[in-house]
Amino acid sequence: MQEKKQVKSIPRKGDDLSEWYTQVCLRAQLVDYTPVRGCIALRPYGFALWELIQAEFDKRFKATGHHNAYFPLLIPESLLIKEAEHVEGFAPEVAWVTQGGGEELTERLAIRPTSEAIIGTMYSRWIQSHRDLPVLINQWCNVVRWEKATRPFLRTLEFLWQEGHTVHASEAEAAEEVQRMLEIYREVAEDVLAMPVIKGRKSENERFAGAVATYAIEALMPDGKALQAGTSHEFGQNFSKAYDIKFTDVDEQVKFGYTTSWGVSWRIIGGLIMTHGDDRGLVLPPAVAPYQVAIVPIMKTGDETVMPAAVQLRNTLASVVRVTLDDREQSPGWKFSEWEMRGVPLRVEIGPRDVAQNVVTVVRRDTLEKSTIPFDDVAARVPALLEEIRASLAARARKELDAHTVVATDRAAFVEALKRQDGFVLAPWCERSECELDIKAETSAVTRVIAGPADPGQVCAYCGKPAKVKAYFARSY
Ligand SMILES: [Zn+2]
Repeated sequence: MQEKKQVKSIPRKGDDLSEWYTQVCLRAQLVDYTPVRGCIALRPYGFALWELIQAEFDKRFKATGHHNAYFPLLIPESLLIKEAEHVEGFAPEVAWVTQGGGEELTERLAIRPTSEAIIGTMYSRWIQSHRDLPVLINQWCNVVRWEKATRPFLRTLEFLWQEGHTVHASEAEAAEEVQRMLEIYREVAEDVLAMPVIKGRKSENERFAGAVATYAIEALMPDGKALQAGTSHEFGQNFSKAYDIKFTDVDEQVKFGYTTSWGVSWRIIGGLIMTHGDDRGLVLPPAVAPYQVAIVPIMKTGDETVMPAAVQLRNTLASVVRVTLDDREQSPGWKFSEWEMRGVPLRVEIGPRDVAQNVVTVVRRDTLEKSTIPFDDVAARVPALLEEIRASLAARARKELDAHTVVATDRAAFVEALKRQDGFVLAPWCERSECELDIKAETSAVTRVIAGPADPGQVCAYCGKPAKVKAYFARSY
């Protein structure tokens, strides 16, 4: 039977997370591999998911005063190398265009790995006075980073993302912006995608090339690895000095601006697949599910009541949710497992007996719980059920995160916890780069974020020197 095959051909999530993940990405029809190494095709279902996630971020960016714009894909080398630390950080991952129109170029062009260089160059032309500030611009685009190993969404040569780039008159204003955007990332991850995160500053080793400070949100995956899901950077005046972003202040003095950048990529899709998916496939948080409800009519030969009722149901639901009526020829069982694989939050089944009794059967994707709802109540009940699903997914994921976060204050417990590779280890830390490299060499884990200052008198859990901060450690994607 086809429906058996559909479910059984993916490995159990707990047995082989990596293969399970790949199969779900393919079988849910989110992506497909392409002849281009490390580059995936985002199929319509995957693109619809991305557009819904994009919309959640975009409306929050606009509500906080940002505008979208677009800048070139190709960046002349002479621009890219202006900020030394930045170019050094990205150099190994940059793809270069060296020929065009059949001729060798006099200057090679980088395919943007990120756009500080080109955007900073444009800002230096657009900003003259304090009246031009702040500049709050976001770009939705693709970037290319020449990665070795690749996985759908998690690590691909070309990926889709947004990069916000802002300029401010003061350091305090820029710092505020960085926290504001980080908080938007946390809000979308937790409240919309039901994916709990830890939030904080990155260590010196882990921060963005050229940044004064990098902040991030990190989610925890079922294999105990952290997934960086969004970053927000303070650049101080590093980039404004490199790209000559100057303004005349109220006191008539010419000053360099303070810049920031912040980004979220389609990697966050990888995070939600791993966080919520199960042995039957994808489980989508309702807010971003391309279809929130799939109606599966259960036809019997000779019956003429089911399809008209299903159409009526679809039309009613269409005004409150994203709904599809699956009127294909396949068997109901095949359709059930397909919509389960594709993670549709609610399935509504309607057969001749349901029509006769004026009810429908509703099945939750997250719990597989079935309930019978009067036909006339469906439009009112479905939004409430979707909210229950969101809340339940969030609670379950939060419980997982908490269960896989341990505190360690002495070396033995710290090393043992990290070697167990079972999630976050929160520990007092000296904040020295050498200490972090030693920890990495011994346990493969690094700091994910710094949560706050250490308690007075605390010592580093690893090296025993005075602790400055409390940091979360884990291995990562
Ligand atoms: Zn230390």
